[in-house]
Amino acid sequence: MAADRVLEIDRLGRKYPDVPRFIILKLDLLRRGARLTSRALDAVQNDEYRFGPMLIFFKNGGSKKTDRSNPGSMLLRDGTTAPVSFEEYFEDPYRVDYTSGKFILYDGRVRVDEVDFTPRPKYYGHLTTSGIPMESIASARAQRLIICAYRHCHLWDTGDQCKYCAFFTDLKASRPAFDTPLRRGVDPEDIYETVREVLKEPGRISEIYLTAGMDYRGEHFFDEEVERYIRILQAIGRNFKGRFSSQIMAPAYSKAQLTRLYRETGLTSYCPNIEVWDERLFGWICPGKNKWPGRKEWIKRTLDAVDIFGKGNVYTQVVAGVELARPHGFKTVDAALRSNLEACEFFAKRGVIFLSTVWRMNPASALAGQKNPPLEYIIRLSKGLYDIRKAYGLSSDNDDYKHCGNHADADLERID
Ligand code: SF4
Repeated sequence: MAADRVLEIDRLGRKYPDVPRFIILKLDLLRRGARLTSRALDAVQNDEYRFGPMLIFFKNGGSKKTDRSNPGSMLLRDGTTAPVSFEEYFEDPYRVDYTSGKFILYDGRVRVDEVDFTPRPKYYGHLTTSGIPMESIASARAQRLIICAYRHCHLWDTGDQCKYCAFFTDLKASRPAFDTPLRRGVDPEDIYETVREVLKEPGRISEIYLTAGMDYRGEHFFDEEVERYIRILQAIGRNFKGRFSSQIMAPAYSKAQLTRLYRETGLTSYCPNIEVWDERLFGWICPGKNKWPGRKEWIKRTLDAVDIFGKGNVYTQVVAGVELARPHGFKTVDAALRSNLEACEFFAKRGVIFLSTVWRMNPASALAGQKNPPLEYIIRLSKGLYDIRKAYGLSSDNDDYKHCGNHADADLERID
């Protein structure tokens, strides 16, 4: 069976010669995850490789802490980074072993390739003046510094969370991944100090990225959240002169809110994710976003943002594969593909970059137990999105392989 699967990668590589085999492998790694053998885990417990604490998630949605650390993103031989999940819940993961000083990727018993992992950033292990570990404030995925500014999503308060999501659950619940003093928000001063420390390692980080759970509170939807982002971005900006390479992945803000964000901070790019394009499926899969502020308004605000940030600096993305989820999803991959390519064209015409990430079914999400999207579907989708963006003169400068590594369709820009 494993041999068949490797052959499938080769078969699909021959069928789609414009998609490099490393990108096909990356897509398969993202959808299937990987597990490190005990030897490989031992080999990453050092200052060269050690990233965040390793958590084990179980199929019933529970999790437990371990005393070991996972490595960071996987590095393929052509330099492609793949933010592979090493959690336990994947049904059929790849395996990484460590022999003769090398990490080797296996599919079952079949050797696939030699791999490596991105280096541990030097600021890991440092504390802020208030005693908070800097890596708990900001993590590094490839060359992107990811800061989670507020670790609670208010959509979970009313059961309106996105159906694929497994983060930011009830604050009273004990969820180790977010069980830190930072759950209620991060002090901007701690963020300022962390970024200052990060910048002492030249070239390690190329973009600062802010994200958070959705907080719709305020006189107008999201006012409190926008105030929080302005405070944080201003604090980060003290490390720079003028604008700095940055993005927020956030809800769809009003033009007035976006104008403030742009004028009062050094932010360069904005990413309000639509998640699912089809109107009927958006209402089912993203009931909270369908209320705050609603699909039509979400799209309008995304387009309005181009007037403020400029063509090619506004992004949106879908979670590729959830549109096929049962029982209401598309019945065929062709219908799913049509929908996503239509969305990409719609946004590209208006200067917005439309990307995809691969859906990884999490056992704590409402869609637990469903199947990952077929590999051939996400290959076709990645190529289709890349072709459309290219036709409209758009390149994913804020979200490409150098800055993010989470979008295989943006990786294809490397072959331009
Ligand atoms: S907005 Fe949706 S995807 Fe984001 S944290 Fe909330 S429930 Fe999860």
